[in-house]
Amino acid sequence: MNQYIQQPVSVVKGIGEEKQTDLQQLGLYTILDMFQHFPYRYENHEVQPIEQLRHEDRVTIAGVIHSEPAVRYYGKKKSRMTVRVMVENILITAVFFNRAFLKNKIQQGQTVTLTGKWNKYKLTITVQDFKNGEPDPSKQLEPVYSVGGNVTIKQLRRFIQQALEEYGVWIEELLPETLLTSYKLPGRQQAFQMIHMPQNKEELKHARRRLVFEELLLFQLKMQVFRRQERLSAGGTAHKFKREEAASFIHQLPFPLTGAQKRVVEEIWNDMSTPLKMNRLLQGDVGSGKTVVASIAMYAAYLAGRQSALMVPTEILAEQHYEGLQELFQQTDVTLTLLTGSVKGKKREERNAWIEDGTVHIVIGTHALIQEDVHFQQLGLVITDEQHRFGVAQRRALRDKGFEPDVLFMTATPIPRTLAISVFGDMDVSAIDELPAGRKPIKTYWVKHDMLERILRFIEKEIQQGRQAYVICPLIEESEALDVQNAIDVHHQLQQFFLHYRVGLMHGRLQTEEKEQVMEAFSRNEIQILVSTTVVEVGVNVPNATAMLIYDADRFGLSQLHQLRGRVGRAEHQSYCILMADPKGETGQERMRIMQETEDGFALSEKDLELRGPGDFFGKKQSGLPEFKIADVVHDYRALETARGDAAALINSRAFWEETQYAGLRSYLEKSGVLEGEKLD
Ligand code: ADP
Ligand code: MG
Repeated sequence: MNQYIQQPVSVVKGIGEEKQTDLQQLGLYTILDMFQHFPYRYENHEVQPIEQLRHEDRVTIAGVIHSEPAVRYYGKKKSRMTVRVMVENILITAVFFNRAFLKNKIQQGQTVTLTGKWNKYKLTITVQDFKNGEPDPSKQLEPVYSVGGNVTIKQLRRFIQQALEEYGVWIEELLPETLLTSYKLPGRQQAFQMIHMPQNKEELKHARRRLVFEELLLFQLKMQVFRRQERLSAGGTAHKFKREEAASFIHQLPFPLTGAQKRVVEEIWNDMSTPLKMNRLLQGDVGSGKTVVASIAMYAAYLAGRQSALMVPTEILAEQHYEGLQELFQQTDVTLTLLTGSVKGKKREERNAWIEDGTVHIVIGTHALIQEDVHFQQLGLVITDEQHRFGVAQRRALRDKGFEPDVLFMTATPIPRTLAISVFGDMDVSAIDELPAGRKPIKTYWVKHDMLERILRFIEKEIQQGRQAYVICPLIEESEALDVQNAIDVHHQLQQFFLHYRVGLMHGRLQTEEKEQVMEAFSRNEIQILVSTTVVEVGVNVPNATAMLIYDADRFGLSQLHQLRGRVGRAEHQSYCILMADPKGETGQERMRIMQETEDGFALSEKDLELRGPGDFFGKKQSGLPEFKIADVVHDYRALETARGDAAALINSRAFWEETQYAGLRSYLEKSGVLEGEKLD
């Protein structure tokens, strides 16, 4: 089919063996990979009318030379050359620094294209780029790609253009004629051409619209076909349990449930008792009591004679949940075990045996627990905690083992409800929008870095009263190594300040065991101050910790700060979060003020979106949201809704499964593995 564009990049003229390796480093193996490596922005060399030019912007103008160049020399190497240029009947001055050698190339009456910095008041342009002749329309918008290693943007531009020239004709249409016509979308081949080499902004918009829609439609089709098959497939479990018995578990908890918790428990119980498989997203702010709700659901599964699995992203979290749940189930006959990568050898064999023969009712662990050598006796419920993707592949893996469990996703990342439904396909969504009574709000203060010593004294006072503190280290964009170095430096510094206390250190480069030892020591108050990178962000629970100091707080997104802050304020003591930041711009300051004033996670995520854009909204890659190549679930929300509707209509129509215009989409679905009998992607 698309065999030509599935070929390795090395078949393209100009890409040798060495460059092939370099491109592979960027994840570009085939020609199609290159086509789908979309620019993330464009350099604008578009010629604009003079009155629209903004002062000090980098602009491109075209005009006719109207004077002899005048050159003045300063010393040996320095020169300043000026020449008058007529642009749209306005005489402007072009200034060239140290480029007197251009003098002979500049002739009166000639058309030139100039790029440089514009001075609106003096009507001058300081030229950086000079070209004889009219502007070249194909160079007006130059694509900028993310590159790395030995590949430069210029090279990649050339390779992609060459590949389009040689192999572009083999790009096949995926979308049906009906959709192309009704949305006036360009064809696929044309869209690839225009996204990489747009002649103007219109083309770019057009191409993007098409490619975004395509990506979202494919995503929605995949989700919905999978969801439909799941619903249709027999064997969803109707958990049989008595409500009163399940409720007795609630009554023995040391606190009454909040109204929101009660509502959500009802929703989950209802899902569980029907034969349809539960597929529910549970959102709730940090500390809103999701884990307790999870335990209630697991108790119901236990009553129905099924096992439950709780999956969390890290071993530390698994450990903590294990301890917390042991306490919650103390007065019941429910048995629990922990299964992570570091449970090995005999211990692991033993636990695996318990899981297999049903001795154990609840298994808590990392992702490994559903993938490896683990065989459940009767798995009925899978709960995933914190931004954890549990996708098609995992479900299929479980189904292959003979299980059709109910699935509950828990997340503290607040996502607007409608967006959540669209992004997660056909998932049901519940929210705990109420905190347990009696929580003291965390007092949040924004201070400058020069206050450090006062802050440390304040922390010292907390520790003298028996409390503990977190110190979160600066975040260096995309460099774990630098983050770690920062943490080590801060740790060293604080050790010297807190001579009478123990200062612990935690970062992502520690071995799992070391991390656990540190966490263990901190939760036993053997360590009073824990210096850490953002690895403590998710779910860690040390209720005696009451103070958190965050260095360079303005480098974090609001949602992330909120997650971090949620590590304190987990018990009756008044807690404090100190944001240390000297933000330069208005937005940075605004964000720090918002953090001081707002405790509501939903409100913060909306602000985040407004101030920093969608990239930070979901917090980089770990958010659990699907990653798109070109679509942006926040900005392209309308397209997402449209694609959702279209996908639903398509899969419910006969035509989709029969007509040739849908063959491309059908074959995509087959390849992606959601159609029965096909292998996984
Ligand atoms: P989450 O998982 O949403 O972060 P948890 O379930 O871990 O929240 O609950 C946070 C803390 O609040 C725990 O110590 C838990 O025992 C307590 N808690 C949960 N629900 C209630 C409630 N209804 N009333 C009082 N305390 C509660
Ligand atoms: Mg939790």
